[in-house]
Amino acid sequence: MERSISVRTSGGAYPVIIGNGLEYGKLALAVKKPCKAVLVSDSSVFPLYGEAALASLRGSGFQATPYVIPRGEASKTLATVEGLLSFLAAQSMTRSDLLLALGGGVVGDLAGFASAIYLRGVDFIQLPTTLLAAVDSSVGGKTGVDLPAGKNLAGAFHPPLAVFCDTRAFATLPEEIFADGMAEAVKHGMIADREMLRSLGQMPMEELCLRNVAVKARIVEADEFEKGARRLLNFGHTVGHAIENVSGYQIPHGRAVAMGMAVIVRAGVHAGLTSPACIEELYAALALYNLPSYCGYSAKEIAQAALHDKKRSGGTISLVVVKETGFAEIFDLPVEHLEDFIAKGLEA
Ligand code: NAD
Repeated sequence: MERSISVRTSGGAYPVIIGNGLEYGKLALAVKKPCKAVLVSDSSVFPLYGEAALASLRGSGFQATPYVIPRGEASKTLATVEGLLSFLAAQSMTRSDLLLALGGGVVGDLAGFASAIYLRGVDFIQLPTTLLAAVDSSVGGKTGVDLPAGKNLAGAFHPPLAVFCDTRAFATLPEEIFADGMAEAVKHGMIADREMLRSLGQMPMEELCLRNVAVKARIVEADEFEKGARRLLNFGHTVGHAIENVSGYQIPHGRAVAMGMAVIVRAGVHAGLTSPACIEELYAALALYNLPSYCGYSAKEIAQAALHDKKRSGGTISLVVVKETGFAEIFDLPVEHLEDFIAKGLEA
């Protein structure tokens, strides 16, 4: 059964449709007249789902052409965007044409950014194929690429025309990539949906995606351009990114975020900011997906890496602290206390 939810933005609203076995072409026709359409995908996803997506779009009257990039974060660069923009120009794509992003967060961020800047903005549709893209990156309108100086340093807010999420694609996800998405679902549960957190492992996939999109939509609707409340979505990420960095990116994102959430919850309990019950609820959710709650790095290493993070402002660093499961707040910590705070979070 298809589920849907609408996400409001300052420029209107877009639908997120979630189902098992979606007809992309028919769904696209409901939001866009037939036109030229470039389907951006990656070298792992296109061989699995690309031809069926093209056939579905063509069957509904779209003149669909594929553009396939090498898989992985290394493709999320300005150079790849330039290649894609040149392809769009060579196809004589106009402002009334369409891009579609079939893949995970890398393809979504990159194709979204290209659609934000090609001819100063064309429509694009997100077709997420990873759990992370379904529950997180396809919603919220953030698009962008990495620079040599760091991740996601260039980008634009450019909401999609629609998001069509076919949960059938998750069947081919490697376990670790699936767990990356689950870490974000646990995060959403911890900050805003305790009931969903408690039902993880039992909830049908469509319902799980819908609940997560609902959490993210509620937060981004309140703060589309990340001036305040949207920072709640960084729960576990400041420490998580630091752990990824210290590991030389050997620890995958989802596992690092899991460790980051656990560090912040334990530190929050120690500081009297977090209810002690949060610890067991978090551990139970992480254990379902073999996500870790401890890491082997020192507080000093993690704090130093975190202080290079772009979320630092002046003499404080913004951390997201869960007060009760399902309710979080921003907590501004003086930078000189960060190492001690993390040290408490590393203790059992
Ligand atoms: P990804 O797009 O690199 O996908 C992970 C791997 O899974 C890739 O190798 C891909 O080819 C493969 N894959 C994708 N779907 C598959 C399927 N159905 N079956 C088999 N293999 C499949 O990574 P991701 O985890 O989806 O996304 C991470 C990216 O998302 C990062 O660049 C991150 O910065 C970004 N992100 C963006 C936002 C946002 O708000 N825009 C939010 C969170 C993360």
